[in-house]
Amino acid sequence: MFQCHGYAATSSKSPLARFAFQRRSPGPSDVQIEILYCGVCHSDLHRVRDEWGGTLYPCVPGHEMVGRVTAVGRAVTKFRAGDIAGVGVMIDSCRECANCRDGFEQYCDKGNTETYNSPDKHLGGHTFGGYSSHIVVDEAFVLRIPDNLELAGVAPLLCAGITTYSPLRRWKVGPGQKVGVVGLGGLGHMAVKFAHALGAHVVLFTTSAGKAEDAKRLGADEVVLSGDPAAMAQHTNSFDFILDTVSARHDINALLQLLRRDGTLTQVGVPAEPQPISAGSLIGKRRSFAGSGIGGIAETQEMLDFCAAHGIASDIELISISEVDDAFERMLRSDVKYRFVIDMVSLQEAR
Ligand code: NAP
Ligand code: ZN
Ligand code: ZN
Repeated sequence: MFQCHGYAATSSKSPLARFAFQRRSPGPSDVQIEILYCGVCHSDLHRVRDEWGGTLYPCVPGHEMVGRVTAVGRAVTKFRAGDIAGVGVMIDSCRECANCRDGFEQYCDKGNTETYNSPDKHLGGHTFGGYSSHIVVDEAFVLRIPDNLELAGVAPLLCAGITTYSPLRRWKVGPGQKVGVVGLGGLGHMAVKFAHALGAHVVLFTTSAGKAEDAKRLGADEVVLSGDPAAMAQHTNSFDFILDTVSARHDINALLQLLRRDGTLTQVGVPAEPQPISAGSLIGKRRSFAGSGIGGIAETQEMLDFCAAHGIASDIELISISEVDDAFERMLRSDVKYRFVIDMVSLQEAR
């Protein structure tokens, strides 16, 4: 075992603060990584503030990290000390169930091991995430990072990237399709980039008029203010697919009305409260309402390689770790352009 430093919340109401803890020394198939950058996902905020229930404290959040490999176990073949590597939302799964065998570790029937807030199979207690100096992960759950992209902008791909790429591929988004993205935050701005790169006609739905110009720069063909009923009505029955990334309660039926016959609205945002869906919104045009969770490890690697080929990374604002509570507040106000990423060097000076 070795000593790590991180930033942890000790309750749903407490700010994050410096916290020392132990990680395991790398076993035969483990990779030890010094974390360089970690993205700030809205899920970190939901989890730290216990908005979904079940948060285990102290909670060290963070599941979008890139770093430098500092040691590997003797059976590791994919990585060597000095390599750049990435870790996302999960660090293990049962590897035996039908979903794991099919490459859908995120849907593991026994429950995957999340990067933080899951039982720690090695040390007991619970797992601690990427707002920390180091992490130790089995190589099967460590990603290779392309060398042509800015590293800080790559970190958010490990959650925001794969969570939007996976459903866009699953619902075969491509040329000739009209695709909606709801919300221009961390997930939403990646969805706009991916849907554009896949060749779709992309419409962004936003509550923030001030983001319209950025949305077009990121790849949106049109921008619609979701609070403007007349603007919404112009798009009735016209979308093949809509990806909803919104983190809070909002009107899903108003979005369903915009799908054409057999269109699908897929929810990736996880508002704390259940939201009403009217049967009529679905039945009228045989529409589907679906959900999607991150992506499997192989698909995450595919997404990273797609990003390398298309020059795609996240648009970020780099912060020091002592600014993370403020970043949470700004994220709640939709004041994020478009992902906060923590420069982990700052952990060395933080108190
Ligand atoms: P984020 O950066 O805070 O972006 C969310 C965006 O939603 C905001 O920027 C805002 O965009 C819009 N929004 C916020 N409140 C709204 C409201 N009341 N009504 C309408 N729109 C609103 O968050 P994120 O990191 O992208 O995460 C988004 C959600 O996805 C979170 O719930 C997170 O937990 C979840 N998530 C799910 C998965 C998964 O596997 N399914 C993975 C990661 C994250 P505008 O300003 O453009 O309106
Ligand atoms: Zn996330
Ligand atoms: Zn499994």
